[in-house]
Amino acid sequence: MSKHIAVLTSGGDAPGMNACIRAIVISAQRNGDNVTGYLRGYNGLIDQQSVPLTCERMHNLTQRGGTILHSARCDRFMHQEGIQQAADTLHQDGIDTLIVIGGDGSFRGAHKLAQHWDGQLIGIPGTIDNDITGTDATIGYYTAIETAVSSIDKVRDTADAFDRIFVVEVMGREAGFLGLSAALASSADFVILPELFTNSENCLTQIDQQIRQRTDERGPVSYIIVLAENCWPGGINDLVGQLTNTTGMEVRPVTLGHVQRGGPPTSQDRILAMQLGTYACELTTQNTSGVMTAIVQHQLVAVPLDTCWSGKKPLDAACVTTMQTLMNQRY
Ligand code: ADP
Repeated sequence: MSKHIAVLTSGGDAPGMNACIRAIVISAQRNGDNVTGYLRGYNGLIDQQSVPLTCERMHNLTQRGGTILHSARCDRFMHQEGIQQAADTLHQDGIDTLIVIGGDGSFRGAHKLAQHWDGQLIGIPGTIDNDITGTDATIGYYTAIETAVSSIDKVRDTADAFDRIFVVEVMGREAGFLGLSAALASSADFVILPELFTNSENCLTQIDQQIRQRTDERGPVSYIIVLAENCWPGGINDLVGQLTNTTGMEVRPVTLGHVQRGGPPTSQDRILAMQLGTYACELTTQNTSGVMTAIVQHQLVAVPLDTCWSGKKPLDAACVTTMQTLMNQRY
């Protein structure tokens, strides 16, 4: 019997969400199922705003950043009344399966919806922060690394020209995945991440000692510090002020901000998005519900949604070791 599948994108948008929607719609059509897209995250469910998603609409979508379904945060969905309204819409529209593409906040919402609606619920991890426990990677993460790295490369040119210190702040919410990968790939001189941060004094001392050692050996140098957002007490401007005082050098802040969320997805994100979307459709033919599609050691798996908030996902230990080895090297 054919099914009616609903899909929405919620929370922070991430490059690759469109490639995922496309994979869902094409796979669903192959199974003989219909797909409806709800607009602006959970708002679309509460306000009954939806569009039919057909294969024809999926043309030329893979390479587009953002999400054709739009995304949003939805405060009303944080309350029982909003969740009940969303459940009523799903009942009225005859939805069998709801697929939520988003981050762990969106999955918490989906988990609560299960108390009000007995249809099938499937999450697909989409966030540039890669901070979702239970999956090795999330849609958008690889593209955000590339964006951050190409920006840091450009900052380095001017840092070199002026022998300046630059502090480049990258996104990540409370996690250092993006910061670590961007710092490593751009050969940053120092990285400050929530997972490795001990205290401000230690960081300032290490940076100052390293700059002095290099200046003594080579003359004026440039220096790039990658800072994960929400990590330094007082924020990037406080760090810049403290570094200026400690080193006596010119220090400039660069906050990469929302450029990290946009742009065409990289091949790796497109492929991940297609795999997770196709796998989600495969799950619609089974009874499993309340799960997130995930990739673990190159295998597609379904993990319970509550895995996402069962503990903090650790950074890749090998990447941390590599960064620390290179960061502390005298050269
Ligand atoms: P992300 O999904 O990227 O982590 P948010 O944390 O902002 O982004 O969550 C997106 C949306 O998911 C929220 O605006 C809200 O609608 C819903 N949501 C988040 N947490 C909860 C919760 N504890 N209960 C109900 N809904 C939630």
